Amino acid sequence: MVRSKVISVDNDVIVVGAGSAGCFSAFHAAKLGVQVIICEEHSEVGVPSHCTGHVSRDGLKRFNLSLPENVLENEIDSVIFYSPSGYTLKVRFSYPVTYVINRERFDQHLCNMAQKKGVEVLNHAHVDSLIFKDQMTRGVVIKEKNETRKLTSRVVIDAEGVSSTLLKRAGLPSLNYQLVANGVQAEVDKIDNIQNSTVEVFLGRDFTSGFFAWIVPHQDGKAKVGLGTTQNNPKDCLRNFIRHHPIARRRLKFRDVKSLVYHPISLGGPISRTFYDGLLIVGDAASQVKPTTGGGLIMGLTCAKIAGEVAASAIHRENSTAAFLSEYEQLWRRRIGFEMMVMKHIRIMLNRLSDKQLDRLVALSTRLELSKTLNSVADIDFQGTSLVQLIKNPKFLLTTLYFLIASFL
Ligand SMILES: Cc1cc2nc3c(=O)[nH]c(=O)nc-3n(C[C@H](O)[C@H](O)[C@H](O)COP(=O)(O)OP(=O)(O)OC[C@H]3O[C@@H](n4cnc5c(N)ncnc54)[C@H](O)[C@@H]3O)c2cc1C
Repeated sequence: MVRSKVISVDNDVIVVGAGSAGCFSAFHAAKLGVQVIICEEHSEVGVPSHCTGHVSRDGLKRFNLSLPENVLENEIDSVIFYSPSGYTLKVRFSYPVTYVINRERFDQHLCNMAQKKGVEVLNHAHVDSLIFKDQMTRGVVIKEKNETRKLTSRVVIDAEGVSSTLLKRAGLPSLNYQLVANGVQAEVDKIDNIQNSTVEVFLGRDFTSGFFAWIVPHQDGKAKVGLGTTQNNPKDCLRNFIRHHPIARRRLKFRDVKSLVYHPISLGGPISRTFYDGLLIVGDAASQVKPTTGGGLIMGLTCAKIAGEVAASAIHRENSTAAFLSEYEQLWRRRIGFEMMVMKHIRIMLNRLSDKQLDRLVALSTRLELSKTLNSVADIDFQGTSLVQLIKNPKFLLTTLYFLIASFL
C-alpha cells in the first residue's frame, strides 16, 4: 500500500532534476537570496551521464564559470566532415573553439556552486507529479519506494530533462516527438590515427538517419563515439557504424567499446510554452536544444540562469502568477528564439538531403575552400545571427553552404 504524508515545508523554489539546467537555475535563484531545494531521482548528481560534453569555448566563457581542471577533458581546434561516399571537408581554426568537458563532473561542479549558496539537494527523490491548487502549481509529490511525500513551494522549476513526464502527466504541451533522435554513445579505447584536437563528423542515412555520427577525442587516444538516429535500435546502429562504416570501421572495428549509454535528443526546437502559474520549464524539458547539433548545454544554461533569476524575483515580489513568470519566456526567446527558429529550419532542410546531395555539398564546399569562410565566424551557438552577418557578403552561395556545414559543428 502507498502511504502519503504531507510535510509542511513551505519552500520558496523547488527544482526538479539536478542536471546542468536544474543546478544552474537553483544557483541563480539562491544567489538572489531565495531558499531552494533540488529533487534529484538518482543517488549521485551527474550520474549516469549520457552526454559527449562538446561545448563552445565562447559559450562557456559567457557564464564566467571557473571550472576545476578535472572538468576539462580536451580542447578542439578542428573538425572533419565525412560525406556518405567519403568526401572530406576539414575546417581548422587557429585556436581552440570548443572544449570537451566531463559532464558528470561538470554537473557536480554546478551542484556544488548551488550548495555553496545554500541550496539543499535531495537525492533518491523521484518527483512523481506536480501539486496544483486553484490551477496554481504549489509543489511536487515525491515517490520513494512505497512512500510518497509532498513538498510545497511557491515556484517549481521543471528541469527533469527530455523525458518530460511531469508535463505529460499534467496534460501540458511538451516536446515535439516527431523530431526526437535516439542518441547512443560509447567510450572507445586506443583509436588508430586519432588526432587529439579534431572532432570527426560522419554524415549519411545508411548509418545515422536523421542525424550524424561523431568521434570526439580525449587527449590520450581514447574517444567518445556516438550517433543519433531516428531508428528505434540505436545500439544496433552504433554497432553497425563501428563494424561497417567504410572509414570509421578501419579504426574502430577491433577496439574495446565500453560504457554504452542511450538517451533521446530533442531536435524540434523549444516547446510552445515554458511558464504557468507557479511553474517554469527549463533545459531539455523545454527542448532548449540546438536542433542542428543536439547541443543543449549552452542553450539550457542560458535559459536556466534566466529561470533562476525570474523565480527569485517572483518570490521577492510575492507574485508567482503566470503573468509575472511570463518574463522568463520573453527573456529567453529574446536571447535564443531567433537562433532556435533558424536552426530548426536547417534541421528540417538537412533531414531532406539525400546521401548524394550530402556528397555534393561536402565536395563543393572543399572545392570552394569553404573552410576559409568558416574560419571567420566561429560562433557556433548563435548560428542564426552568424547567418545574418554572412548574408551581407555578396558570396551568398558560399554563405548558404557555410551555414549548412556550420550547422553540424
Ligand atoms: C548521446 C548524447 C550526446 C550529447 N552530447 C552533447 C554535447 O556534446 N554537447 C551539448 O551541448 N549537448 C549534448 N547533448 C545534450 C545534453 O546532454 C542535454 O541537452 C543536457 O543534458 C540537458 O540538461 P538538463 O539539465 O536539461 O537535463 P538532464 O541533463 O537530462 O538532467 C535532468 C536531471 O533530472 C533528473 N530527473 C529526471 N526526471 C526526474 C524526476 N521525475 N524526479 C527527479 N529527478 C528527475 C535526472 O536524473 C537528471 O539528473 C547530448 C545528448 C545525448 C543524448
